Amino acid sequence: MTAVFAIAVAPVAVADSAGRKEAAKTKVSERTCVACRAKAPRAELLRFVRGADGRLIFDQSGRLPGRGAWTCSAIECFEGAIVRGRFAHIIRLSGSGSALDTEMIDELRASVEAYLNVAK
Ligand SMILES: [Zn+2]
Repeated sequence: MTAVFAIAVAPVAVADSAGRKEAAKTKVSERTCVACRAKAPRAELLRFVRGADGRLIFDQSGRLPGRGAWTCSAIECFEGAIVRGRFAHIIRLSGSGSALDTEMIDELRASVEAYLNVAK
């Protein structure tokens, strides 16, 4: 008696390079880290948006309205985005001439660090 193992091969949709562009738009919802340019699903990234008062906010929920910027869940990428001025264009949209000041950056860094420590 020989046992025959039927291996069911589920049809795998090979959506690679060809269908990738479309998938990212409609389904996977990938975002690009503004610091290192790596792509990842938005759930794995940190989001920053411009608040109503023109200040940059760390959007932990990822649901705040407004134009956002994304970085990897790493303090290095947050710092990199600051250093390279990647957030500046977001808050400049307010037209109020607000900019990233040291105080705002310190606040953001504190909340990002707290978040990353909790998330680990
Ligand atoms: Zn990154």
